Amino acid sequence: MEREIIPVTKPYLLQEELQSIKEVLDSGWLVQGKKVSEFEKAVADHEQVLYCCATTSCTTALQLAMLAEGMKEGMDVLVPSFTFVATANAVVSTGAVPVILDVDPETFNLSPDAVQACIQKQYHKKQGKWLNKTTGNQLWGMVPVHQFGLCADMERINGIAQKYELHVIEDAACALGAGIGERHIGGFGHTACVSFHPRKSITTGEGGMILTNDPEIYEKVTALRNHGSMVNSDARQKGNGTLLPDYPFHGYNFRMTDIQGAIGCQQIRKLDYILQKRRELAARYDWLFSGDGEKLKIPSVPGGYYHTYQSYVCRLKLGEDLAEAAGKRNRFMEKLQECGIQTRQGTHAIHKLAYYQKRFGIPDADLPGASRCDAETVAFPLFVTMTREEQNYVTEQVKRFLINLQ
Ligand SMILES: *Cc1c(COP(=O)(O)O)cnc(C)c1O
Repeated sequence: MEREIIPVTKPYLLQEELQSIKEVLDSGWLVQGKKVSEFEKAVADHEQVLYCCATTSCTTALQLAMLAEGMKEGMDVLVPSFTFVATANAVVSTGAVPVILDVDPETFNLSPDAVQACIQKQYHKKQGKWLNKTTGNQLWGMVPVHQFGLCADMERINGIAQKYELHVIEDAACALGAGIGERHIGGFGHTACVSFHPRKSITTGEGGMILTNDPEIYEKVTALRNHGSMVNSDARQKGNGTLLPDYPFHGYNFRMTDIQGAIGCQQIRKLDYILQKRRELAARYDWLFSGDGEKLKIPSVPGGYYHTYQSYVCRLKLGEDLAEAAGKRNRFMEKLQECGIQTRQGTHAIHKLAYYQKRFGIPDADLPGASRCDAETVAFPLFVTMTREEQNYVTEQVKRFLINLQ
């Protein structure tokens, strides 16, 4: 019997989602309206933040949050290298310059040591601003990423931000529901952006959201998402839509549709269940791989951190030579694919991607943590409906190929 492919992930969608789409279609109101507002309130309640603003994706959410916090041309922004390209692309889209820093290969997250070292070496204070000694650019701040659902070290990042008076926007694309102790993403004192792409815990097809406790930021991002309009479309939907609103500044159309909002309303109700399942499966992987530590490093979770396992990403330990390690890792993933198991490189190191490589030319040796993660990481299948039998099969095959990996 031919085995079905075990996918790296699969969205968890049921009849309710389908029914809710039908209701929106029947209502005749398809663009941003009641359903989007309802979804925003549900996410705000879940993450214990005051305001949420839905957008077309996390990438556009980041872009709006960045614009609202004054990021623009002539500014520098510190970002980790080992992240999805969208983190840096959002910075570039504001006109600012991403300054690509190293990550801690244990957690995959932005290294506070690297941030501290970069500021001390590359910036000096002039008239109350931290300026780049080479280019004169003003340091805006940083965009820590909660990679794969594990929060960045927000205590140290907040400490640095306070010391140098920097802005912080959290790229929480993978981290809806994640936290440290009692604090959630969006509640670390900064604006955070999440994604509802099907590879994340809950999905609206495409979609994103800005989470903030700052009423001014909220007002700005809601206007920016809607062409710079100061009247929200929920109010217009209630009537009085004969006059067009005023447009006091340049904006975009980054609105989520009510079709997506309706799916989101159903998905957010499942979030706790989805996260619980993902965490159970991750714990079981940890246990199944516990004897393979010499060749495979399971995800580390610092004490008190609540990991949401958007991806279950391990590092293969395949020697010091990174090109060789990447080659072996890639063959390993091909072998798994041949026996019906889909895997993916964890994510990429953005300094190695053609656009950023050409623009900044950062050698791997300058970002050893991110380069190592780029070469060694593998995301294994993890989805709510994954069976024990499927998980056993994945781990058996992984172990089999690991032994023979030369
Ligand atoms: C998925 C992801 C994004 C982009 O999210 P979209 O909703 O697809 O735009 C940004 N940053 C990180 C870290 C991601 O994983």
